[in-house]
Amino acid sequence: MAPSRFSLLTLLRQAFSGPPDLSAHWRSPAPGPAYDVVIIGAGGHGLATAFHLAAEHGIRRVAVLEKGWLGGGNTGRNTTIVRSNYLMAESAALYEHALRLWEGLSQALNYNVMYSPRGVMMLAHNVHDIAVLKRHIYANRLAGIDNEWLSPAEAKAFCPPLNLAGGMRYPVLGAALQRRGGTARHDAVAWGYARAASALGVDIIQNCEVTAIDRDRAGAVSGVETTRGAIAARKIGVVAAGHTSVVMALAGLRMPLESYPLQALVSEPVKPVFPCVVMSNTIHAYISQSDKGELVIGAGTDAYVSYSQTGGLHIATHTLDAICELFPMFRRLRMLRNWGGIVDVTPDRSPIIGLTPVPGLFVNCGWGTGGFKATPGSGQVFAHTIATGAPHPINAPFSLDRFRCGRLIDEAAAAAVAH
Ligand SMILES: Cc1cc2nc3c(=O)[nH]c(=O)nc-3n(C[C@H](O)[C@H](O)[C@H](O)COP(=O)(O)OP(=O)(O)OC[C@H]3O[C@@H](n4cnc5c(N)ncnc54)[C@H](O)[C@@H]3O)c2cc1C
Repeated sequence: MAPSRFSLLTLLRQAFSGPPDLSAHWRSPAPGPAYDVVIIGAGGHGLATAFHLAAEHGIRRVAVLEKGWLGGGNTGRNTTIVRSNYLMAESAALYEHALRLWEGLSQALNYNVMYSPRGVMMLAHNVHDIAVLKRHIYANRLAGIDNEWLSPAEAKAFCPPLNLAGGMRYPVLGAALQRRGGTARHDAVAWGYARAASALGVDIIQNCEVTAIDRDRAGAVSGVETTRGAIAARKIGVVAAGHTSVVMALAGLRMPLESYPLQALVSEPVKPVFPCVVMSNTIHAYISQSDKGELVIGAGTDAYVSYSQTGGLHIATHTLDAICELFPMFRRLRMLRNWGGIVDVTPDRSPIIGLTPVPGLFVNCGWGTGGFKATPGSGQVFAHTIATGAPHPINAPFSLDRFRCGRLIDEAAAAAVAH
């Protein structure tokens, strides 16, 4: 049975008609023998892709296969920052497309994803930072994307806990602010897409690991082997984030990716004290406050590749040192927990969304430390690519082929960090 539609009327009806509707938000069917499209990975990007295949392209015989639980990968582990102020024109177009979709996503999915445009402020601590951030601001404005420069006093007015005292190791010399940036609730994004896709007929199959990709005599994909049996499909989309290299190796492809642990941590919950998102690329730390009251703090990747879903302790302590200097009022807060995820990083720090040399095999990966914010846009353009067999104009530059021909989208040099 499809879940009921959320509306004021439903709320009122349920308030007066006994127990609320607690039916499951998505179906949990057994795997079918064949589908038009199989998506490997039920993170936000995979689920969004399935939703758009069904909603926009009328392709409803779709299975999303997940080796663990839905949203249990990086989608459920990230620090939920959403913004579009990237430097390169191709990236800015992609992330701005996503940001526009965020603005109407709760309505489109009929599910509250708690998108909160509370502003993302990026701090400048030295002359180099000022030049880099101002360059971003000018490039963004030319592309019609909001981004503005704040003096230190204006930055403090926007974020009162910010420390402007003299003699700091990381003095605040100014900041770039994207007011439309902010956060969204990561679990709700996965659940909202799952609910909406399932209602359109998409099968979401959890605890179903893909162990092989089958190919026919011509080399095209013909299906997958899974821990729950074989499934036939002429189109397969790999959206497996930190494990893309492993999954693509099943089809004999070697990817230009390195996988690193990336960690985050949260404090004990406190009353609302932190009104926005603050990031510092130089220190490699960023912070916001969740609706539960926890301070959500992100750090940088470990310096070495690994599949261990934790992160080095020295990375977390370095981040906390910097956070406490920037916001001394948090010095006595206790940290509640930390965790890690595995991020796939490309040589130019931009994602890969498109076709592969194997007919019928499509890939969406390489989002590194910053793919959550792209979820709605990525799902939409990837669905277009799978449905039509050709990239959408927005993801055309993000081809796998760019590493062969050298047409890189070098956010690595441009941004250094991309949460
Ligand atoms: C600590 C941390 C903080 C971050 N902070 C931010 C942030 O603030 N803002 C931002 O924009 N981005 C952030 N990111 C990055 C962001 O989380 C990811 O780029 C994004 O969530 C990737 O989504 P996805 O759907 O592609 O991957 P995932 O959610 O990881 O989904 C991939 C799924 O594939 C499944 N899978 C893998 N192998 C198989 C297989 N063989 N068979 C079946 N299923 C398989 C996995 O179990 C997983 O559920 C952060 C990441 C981390 C780890």
